[in-house]
Amino acid sequence: MLQQTRVAAALPFYQTFVSRFPTIASLARAREAEVLAVWAGLGYYRRARHLHAAARHIVQDHGGRVPEDPAVFGKLPGVGRYTTGAVLSLAFDRPMAALDGNVARVLARLFAVSASVRAARGARRLWTLAETLVPARRPGAWNQALMELGATICLPRAPRCGICPLARWCRARLLGRVDAFPPAVSRPAVRTVRRAIVVIARAARVLMVRREGPQLTGLWEPPGVELEDRAEISGGCIRAARVGRRARARG
Ligand code: SF4
Repeated sequence: MLQQTRVAAALPFYQTFVSRFPTIASLARAREAEVLAVWAGLGYYRRARHLHAAARHIVQDHGGRVPEDPAVFGKLPGVGRYTTGAVLSLAFDRPMAALDGNVARVLARLFAVSASVRAARGARRLWTLAETLVPARRPGAWNQALMELGATICLPRAPRCGICPLARWCRARLLGRVDAFPPAVSRPAVRTVRRAIVVIARAARVLMVRREGPQLTGLWEPPGVELEDRAEISGGCIRAARVGRRARARG
């Protein structure tokens, strides 16, 4: 839940989720639609699908126990290098690094790394640093401390160097160039999407269809279409007829 999401935003969803699915077995038994319904509002629904699929794998292939071997754990759906390091260090005391955005920023400043974690060279360097630093004792506490430092002190803008416990070793600070690390990278432009939807209601029931396409796939919504740039909604009845046919075809 915390991938791309702040703790404060995820917390109420987390509490609801674990009270609805308190065990891996209960999550594995649930239908995907139930899991998505509990996740609704948190966004990035691929995370919920992966978590659900991973729970099923754990039950079917690993007797309901989370595998501790990184090579096995790393094959679960939706699990990459970061998740492997985070889960195995926090839950099983495995001395593995967990390089998230906050940790990458702290290390980039601490060692004045001039390449971004989004570039292959920067990712290699930062992962190597993170793996070199992680201690054999309490690696989970170490990883959480670095994450927390990045989230509360080594902030993206206006880092609080005056109260930072790493200040005396921080190369970016000693160089007087905290703002230069990590280097800025251009992000893909945000695309605004306009949709026309049709609400068809009868006897307190509303027609819903499952969404297709790259975003929010599989979620339920009133039938709709994406509007082309500058398209006018005044042609709504024509669009409504078209959408209605599509919805009926899906049953
Ligand atoms: S001294 Fe400042 S820039 Fe360096 S790690 Fe601490 S908060 Fe970040």
